[in-house]
Amino acid sequence: MDLNYSAEELAFREEVREFLREELPTDLSDAVREGRSIGKEGHERWHSILNARGWLAPNWPRAYGGCAWNAVQRHIFEEECCRAHAPRIVPFGLTMLGPVLQKFGSDAQRDYFLPRILSGEHWWCQGYSEPGAGSDLASLRTRAVRDGDHYVVNGQKTWTTLGQYANWIFCLVRTDPDAKQQEGISFLLIDMDTPGIEVRPIILLDGTHEVNEVWFTDVRVPVENLVGEENQGWTYAKYLLTHERTNIAGVGFSQAGLDAVKRLARQQMHRGRPLAENSHFAARLAQVEIDLMAMATTNLRIISAAAAGQAPGVESSMLKVKGTEIRQEINDLARRAAGAHAMPFASEALEDDNSNLAQPEGTAAVSAQYFNNRKLSIFGGSNEIQKNIIAKVKLGGRT
Ligand SMILES: Cc1cc2nc3c(=O)[nH]c(=O)nc-3n(C[C@H](O)[C@H](O)[C@H](O)COP(=O)(O)OP(=O)(O)OC[C@H]3O[C@@H](n4cnc5c(N)ncnc54)[C@H](O)[C@@H]3O)c2cc1C
Repeated sequence: MDLNYSAEELAFREEVREFLREELPTDLSDAVREGRSIGKEGHERWHSILNARGWLAPNWPRAYGGCAWNAVQRHIFEEECCRAHAPRIVPFGLTMLGPVLQKFGSDAQRDYFLPRILSGEHWWCQGYSEPGAGSDLASLRTRAVRDGDHYVVNGQKTWTTLGQYANWIFCLVRTDPDAKQQEGISFLLIDMDTPGIEVRPIILLDGTHEVNEVWFTDVRVPVENLVGEENQGWTYAKYLLTHERTNIAGVGFSQAGLDAVKRLARQQMHRGRPLAENSHFAARLAQVEIDLMAMATTNLRIISAAAAGQAPGVESSMLKVKGTEIRQEINDLARRAAGAHAMPFASEALEDDNSNLAQPEGTAAVSAQYFNNRKLSIFGGSNEIQKNIIAKVKLGGRT
């Protein structure tokens, strides 16, 4: 196993850097660096820039308009995008639904939906979780009953990220209430403009509107919007989750976060000396940096194995747990480094007009990021569930 980059890979990294230097709008990278929201317009702008370059769908085959990059190229691209503070690509259509339609969708679904994901005409959201069906997803209760050439959907989804911007939602629905839990579930594509759908905001700890409840009352969905076979949705749902967990280690995000904490700790004074020289703070900073370096190497090892054709198994659970613990520790260090400036958390400080408020540079967003990133250890399969998976595989079922 060779963990060094080849000459081609280094050339590719240079190409990505040049593209980001030339094409990434400064207002977007400034907002990302300062932890401000870029809104729907910002996401759509970056989406079209990547689409114009043909770099929007790293994991899609070329036949569908993707880049067909290997695991190393994807890693390099993600690392450089984080370093340059590029906006995160909203994953629901591109990373999650796209691969499901490519593998299990009908020709008509592929022809209709895939180009619209790339063009940005369709903004997708994910309708999996329900109250009482998160970790135990298979207990979901949203019902779809066949009525002629439609399904009639009733129920509620929750935690639907950016559902307020979406015009389509992919949903897991129960089509056979008498079958064993996993066997009575189907995968439906639903136009959010259909009568009977209501999106209600949930406000997160940092005061932002990022997630929603989505309610369905007698929503009529054409049967051609069923993916694959009725009652086989669990298979497609699991396949999608393997794609949800790509880039789970978040090495690039942590590296960018760590650089920001170091900058802040050099500026902030503690008893007349820069905080970076405080032995307690420096020890915590060193520990998280060591953890990050170790994880980055593990990540490369897994990527290298994937490039050689081995599918990552329990390793992705290990990366999820460690990666999110590291990001949360970095957020905590940033909050501590900002000290009193982190206490009066004012979401207004993150709005465009107030970005020049007098305060040490880099402190406006630390509380918001600290609160917002509590989510990291919950979504994408909570860390406790990942630990169960690791224990089951590594301890041979003794959980
Ligand atoms: C910010 C955010 C965005 C999200 N976006 C989406 C989205 O777009 N679409 C979507 O469908 N879902 C989304 N989710 C939902 C997410 O997938 C669920 O929150 C997650 O699966 C956990 O489910 P739950 O919240 O119902 O918690 P529960 O499953 O009720 O778990 C509560 C606690 O108990 C622990 N626990 C549960 N079972 C076990 C067990 N067997 N062993 C040990 N511990 C256990 C969990 O780890 C957790 O700490 C989002 C969540 C958040 C926080």
